[in-house]
Amino acid sequence: MKVLKFGGTSVGSVESIMSLKKIVESQGEQLIVVVSALGGITDKLIATSRLAARGDKAYRMEFEAMVKRHHDMIDTIIDDSEKRSSLTRVIDNLFEELRSIYYGVYLIRDLSEKIQAAIVSYGERLSSHIVATLIDGAQRYNSRDFIKTLHKHGKNILDSELTVQLVKETFRNQTKTAVVPGFISTDRDSGEITNLGRGGSDYTASIIAAALDADALEIWTDVDGFMTADPKVIPSAYTINELSYVEAMELCNFGAKVVYPPTIYPVCVKNIPIKVKNTFNPENAGTTIKSHVENDTKPIKGISSIKGTTLITVTGLSMVGVIGVNRRIFTALADNGISVFMVSQASSENSTSIGVRDVDADEAVEVLNREFAKEIKTGAMFPMHAESGLATIAIVGENMKHTPGIAGKLFGTLGRSGISVIACAQGASETNISFVVHTKYLRKALNVLHDSFFLSEYKVLNLFVCGIGTVGGNLIEQIKTQYDELTKTQRLKLNVVGVASSHNAIFNRDGIDLDNYKTLLAESEPSSCEKLKQEIIGMNIFNSVFVDCTASKEVAEMYQDLLEHNVSVVAANKIAASGDYDSYIKLKETALRRGVKFLFETNVGAGLPIIGTIKDLRNSGDKILKIEAVLSGTLNFIFNEISADVPFSETVRRAKEQGYSEPDPRIDLSGKDVMRKLVILTREAGYKVEQADVEKHLFIPNEFFEGTEEDFWKNLPSLDAGFEEKRKVLEAENKRWRFVAKMDHGKTKVSLEAVDQHHPFYMLEGSNNIVLLTTERYREYPMLIQGYGAGAGVTAAGVFANIMSIANI
Ligand code: ADP
Ligand code: ASP
Ligand code: MG
Repeated sequence: MKVLKFGGTSVGSVESIMSLKKIVESQGEQLIVVVSALGGITDKLIATSRLAARGDKAYRMEFEAMVKRHHDMIDTIIDDSEKRSSLTRVIDNLFEELRSIYYGVYLIRDLSEKIQAAIVSYGERLSSHIVATLIDGAQRYNSRDFIKTLHKHGKNILDSELTVQLVKETFRNQTKTAVVPGFISTDRDSGEITNLGRGGSDYTASIIAAALDADALEIWTDVDGFMTADPKVIPSAYTINELSYVEAMELCNFGAKVVYPPTIYPVCVKNIPIKVKNTFNPENAGTTIKSHVENDTKPIKGISSIKGTTLITVTGLSMVGVIGVNRRIFTALADNGISVFMVSQASSENSTSIGVRDVDADEAVEVLNREFAKEIKTGAMFPMHAESGLATIAIVGENMKHTPGIAGKLFGTLGRSGISVIACAQGASETNISFVVHTKYLRKALNVLHDSFFLSEYKVLNLFVCGIGTVGGNLIEQIKTQYDELTKTQRLKLNVVGVASSHNAIFNRDGIDLDNYKTLLAESEPSSCEKLKQEIIGMNIFNSVFVDCTASKEVAEMYQDLLEHNVSVVAANKIAASGDYDSYIKLKETALRRGVKFLFETNVGAGLPIIGTIKDLRNSGDKILKIEAVLSGTLNFIFNEISADVPFSETVRRAKEQGYSEPDPRIDLSGKDVMRKLVILTREAGYKVEQADVEKHLFIPNEFFEGTEEDFWKNLPSLDAGFEEKRKVLEAENKRWRFVAKMDHGKTKVSLEAVDQHHPFYMLEGSNNIVLLTTERYREYPMLIQGYGAGAGVTAAGVFANIMSIANI
């Protein structure tokens, strides 16, 4: 004999209830089928009663909607007209009663607990009639006759002994498939309607299964079994094939609502296995919960959480050595029916923290203040301190006790994600480590822990791409093209969760459709840097990286806050790394302290591995002595293009048109861009330098940079003749112009130099860059890095490489 319980969603739609019929009718053994109310109906019954109690006429519409939903369901699923009309009559009678109750509540504006319990009972009463009619040869039983409760500490709790006896009597001569409404019960003394608490149908089924020594209890729901975490919060959660009773109990107690917590105990005592299965996918094996799981090596089986936690701290300087404080705390709370689900006491014994639910918090504080009134008055103890709005997370697994390092991994993972732990507890049984965090960190904590304990399968990086110009646009295309390949070969999912242009921003935790991001952006609300920053921090998403493909100062000013909130930063933007030295150091230190990355490889030489190389050299103990470099793709392009036929001003125009120069080419021509790059390299080489420290020998008079960009273009041709004159001399000497950046033991200089054909810079083609690094190890023959130093494609690729290095791949 088996007991099958079908939850709200399993009786909530035509598709699911027809699946239920098929599952039940194909079993071929004696069955008891316990059903919940139609999905969402219990909530509706409660909400409607509150409207009525407030005197809000809208309750009637809500009521009629429930009537219609049940009628529609019956009309669609019951073909036989006779059965249909007799069922409709029963349903209508029940609704008539309910209508009267609501009307009474509406008139009197009073909703006692008793009336509320009577109202919610209609959900299961209605659904059980429908299911009993739908299943061929089924008989409906009335659980109010045999599930009995008693009143204690203001709560209705199961009268186990009486219930077991009545269940045995009721089903002694059962021959047909029994259909039983879950959740509802009656008080053993008054006979009034009560219930087993929200989600209680699971418990009804378990009580019956245990009383009748069933072969199995099956919980049919809307997911493929008991999963590693709530799949609605962690999309990558997966089904756990087997769980022990202890593990299941721990996970349920901490919020895995797939099984109502009290459900486990009755069947555990009788060693009856529980199967959790999916009504929408009956072929899936689901989860088996039993006493012992064989060949189980996984230390952690699942993660669950509860919101609405309050932490009450009982503390006082003289608590140390006072005997019986804990006994008094727990007795006082228990006597008032307040349940404690977590306790944490440090060995100094001067404070004990207790986790209770928010709803019990005020009462718990009151009870404890009363209990310790004398000690509080004398100053031996402080009044109770309560912090609410917290969440408790538990990681659970019986094998934890055989595996060292779990707690280390847990807290390390949380720390790297910027999540601080407010309290924690681990019992000596070592099957559960629970800890309390602020609710705003809950989702992130669950995700990082799930990733770190279960998701060796895929690593996820969540990217915010800011700037969709040539570099940003190119990067998004590269991500799109590489996505499948990286998922397959590197097990890395690059999830773009935010994209911002200079005016708009879009966000999507599950990943933005990259085929469509431009349209989505165009249709989105206007944004600003401040809004963008708040949104990113507010999303509080794990493993996230902010990618700056702009040249904006305002955007660069966001880095500090982002790093502080554990968001890594990859910048193509040079402003932060070349700006004020102290701010640059602070950014680096913040990244280090927060366990995230601040990377800007493309600030110098686009995709060329220059900064990374300097870092590698220094990490291995080398010392950078000198740097000589051509770092401006634009200037190199200009000095390679200039000829008798192409005057200077024309080369500048071409550099802009071909996308080599900065959007405003004056930044290149003034040498500013090269100075910024030289400052960055010098700093990365380990020297302190500011832009103002760079000695500069420029080739365009200062006044050209003073007016507007338009004035600049207008005046530029006036320089052509002078350049041509010098160029002829250069040509005669067989030399070429190179705008060279130099660093010598921390001293920096930029200047236009004429190099002859023996110089390594002479042959530098097009817009290429070159860097010579003289170090202690590369002293006689400097290390040389050369290649494309500008261009959207190579720069985007360099940004991509930085992103990949954050993924540690
Ligand atoms: P029913 O109406 O069938 O009783 P519930 O809504 O009570 O269904 O429970 C099923 C839901 O429990 C799932 O849809 C899922 O969102 C949630 N849930 C929370 N934690 C887990 C978990 N660890 N495994 C599976 N489901 C979980
Ligand atoms: N219908 C009740 C509820 O929603 C009981 C249950 O579904 O288990 O809480
Ligand atoms: Mg449930």
